[in-house]
Amino acid sequence: MGCPVMLAGIITMAQKLLDVLMLGRCSHEFSWPRRAADGDYYQVCLICATEYKYDWKTMRRTERVDRGAPESTTTTRRSRSHSKKPTWVPRARRLKLDTPVRYRVKNLGSWFEGILQNLSQSGVLLQGPQHLPENTLVEMVFEMPEEISGQKNSSVLCQGRITRAKETKDAKPAQATAETTVLAASILDYKFLHHS
Ligand SMILES: [Zn+2]
Repeated sequence: MGCPVMLAGIITMAQKLLDVLMLGRCSHEFSWPRRAADGDYYQVCLICATEYKYDWKTMRRTERVDRGAPESTTTTRRSRSHSKKPTWVPRARRLKLDTPVRYRVKNLGSWFEGILQNLSQSGVLLQGPQHLPENTLVEMVFEMPEEISGQKNSSVLCQGRITRAKETKDAKPAQATAETTVLAASILDYKFLHHS
């Protein structure tokens, strides 16, 4: 309480909520895709709570999920019983990025500056100066791609967990001085950081 950054965020949120209520429209700020009980992924708008199905192969939202309606989608996805598994599964899409990321061990003081290399269903791959062991809970601040967030220029504070870590010796001798580490992190959740 009383933190000016937090207050600004609350005021922005209140304004957006007011837009939804007064004007009946929302620009939608989407969550990290969550897995439903049926195995499909969906996103929730963190402002108006509307849900959309999310297709990781194309990295797009597909149809809107109406939680009030009876289960009508089951008929369209009736499976051909003799071919349970598709013979060919397209490789999950991976967004190549080259954007700055700040990261730190969750709730611990110092932030490290790294580069976000890519993002996919499994999370993010980043390169940075600080090695962290696997399973470390981390916080990351970076610009979430529009394919996920539904918003341009949207910085998020992201909760994650290190899934892989390896220290690299730079292959090119010419620039071999700086020691960097490559970290893969799963994404658990995030919230939008609003600038006042
Ligand atoms: Zn919304």
